[in-house]
Amino acid sequence: MSEEERQIQGIREAFEQEFERFAALNLDGMALSDAEARLQELRELRIRQTGKRSAIAGAMKLIGRVAPHERSAFGQLVQSVEKLIAGTIDAAEILLSDHISAARTELERLDVTLPGRRPRTGHLHPITILRQRIEDIFVAMGYAIEDDREIETDYYNFDALNIPEAHPARESQDTFYTTKGFALRSQTSTVQIRAMERRGVPIRILAPGRVFRRDTPDMTHTPMFHQLEGLCVDKGITMGHLKGTVTEWLKRMYGPDTVTRFRPSYFPFTEPSAEFDFSCFKCAGTGVFESERCRPCKGSGWIELGGSGMVHPNVLRSCGVDPTVYSGFAFGFGLERMTALMYNIDDIRHMFENDVRFLEQFR
Ligand SMILES: [Zn+2]
Repeated sequence: MSEEERQIQGIREAFEQEFERFAALNLDGMALSDAEARLQELRELRIRQTGKRSAIAGAMKLIGRVAPHERSAFGQLVQSVEKLIAGTIDAAEILLSDHISAARTELERLDVTLPGRRPRTGHLHPITILRQRIEDIFVAMGYAIEDDREIETDYYNFDALNIPEAHPARESQDTFYTTKGFALRSQTSTVQIRAMERRGVPIRILAPGRVFRRDTPDMTHTPMFHQLEGLCVDKGITMGHLKGTVTEWLKRMYGPDTVTRFRPSYFPFTEPSAEFDFSCFKCAGTGVFESERCRPCKGSGWIELGGSGMVHPNVLRSCGVDPTVYSGFAFGFGLERMTALMYNIDDIRHMFENDVRFLEQFR
């Protein structure tokens, strides 16, 4: 064996040694990222073994220097080794590339037999659930849903509602004033005024919304809470209509056996005024549930719910409505208390803490 032949033999052996780990590659179950890394290494190996500066490229240059009678045999030897190297690398690259494209297809394939993944869609807040139930009932009775701004002028918050200058509700320890003459509304009755000004009479509206009062948060108070207020103004509206409407609503909410009662009260914006209660939905007014004192009504059989009355003539006048021609009733109540009673929530602060573990219970 000539010196040149030994050199070519060495090139071949060096290649086979370097290629060994690719020859031993087990593609079965090889991860996509691993296969991509091996392919990159194989491409680097190709440059080292067949590139311009590779040993085999150097050997090609030797052909011309070999004695003429040996040149043909030597040339064939060099070419066969070069072919072997390139062919071996080609074959390995095809195997790796096929494996990579198969692995990519597998990744992108949709397995229709897998159980569906349920998207986290979220759901309604318990206050919203209750508000929508009540809205549905009143809309069915011909009421329109109204809302308006939460920052109100003193005029809409107090004056137009017949709340006198010296009334304690106007004091800054009860109301959140923003700048002089403006405050966060302390009741949704402000919407009555705006709606009557805008729509005129006759009118039937339900106004749900947030209201704000300077209360220290505790189990039954929060400085922001939700009120729902109803207003009906037309010719010939009486206290009987008020009682009939509230009773019908509560029957539709809690069942046909629900009884309501009205107790005389005082509010500046209604005259006469009454608070209304309804027979407890849990114990059906007996005060006893599962032979124990009923919790929602504290054993009284009645649940105190809200305030109501005939719209004060001064309020109608503020809205440009003639109280000698038109009359109306209004009622309002807090949604938090009703929600707490319905869902057996002992601390209304839970409703505003946005703890998903709490909120998830109400669907
Ligand atoms: Zn009860």
